Amino acid sequence: MKLRQQENQCLNTKARRSLIEQNIAVIGAGPGGYVAAIRAAQLDANVFLIEDREVGGGTCLNRGCIPTKTYFKNAELMRDLRRAEEFGITVDNFSLDGKELQNRK
Ligand SMILES: Cc1cc2nc3c(=O)[nH]c(=O)nc-3n(C[C@H](O)[C@H](O)[C@H](O)COP(=O)(O)OP(=O)(O)OC[C@H]3O[C@@H](n4cnc5c(N)ncnc54)[C@H](O)[C@@H]3O)c2cc1C
Repeated sequence: MKLRQQENQCLNTKARRSLIEQNIAVIGAGPGGYVAAIRAAQLDANVFLIEDREVGGGTCLNRGCIPTKTYFKNAELMRDLRRAEEFGITVDNFSLDGKELQNRK
């Protein structure tokens, strides 16, 4: 590892560029994969980003970070609506439309 770092430091900019001007395959278009692919493309590599799902973004976009935050927000809003009277607000009626929640996610 240390030797590799020293070798890299010895390479001039042109040599370093020629190292990166290659074909690079990145497997998986999650946050790890697409960031690596974008960076490699910025460094002039020919990048092949391989994803086996229809939609990129990985767990974070499709099942993890983003969807869970949508559900959290919904739960928070429902809780506030239930407590509305404590704040002098009258809410006659409200209900959760699960389909709309899924669409928003
Ligand atoms: C419920 C939940 C909530 C989360 N909330 C947060 C949060 O708030 N903040 C945060 O920072 N992180 C959060 N995370 C973590 C975050 O989702 C992961 O850290 C992140 O998605 C990891 O990215 P990754 O690219 O390494 O893997 P992944 O996102 O899993 O992406 C891997 C990709 O590779 C593809 N793939 C796998 N095998 C192959 C194959 N053989 N060929 C082609 N494609 C393949 C998959 O289809 C997928 O698209 C959460 C995770 C979960 C489960």
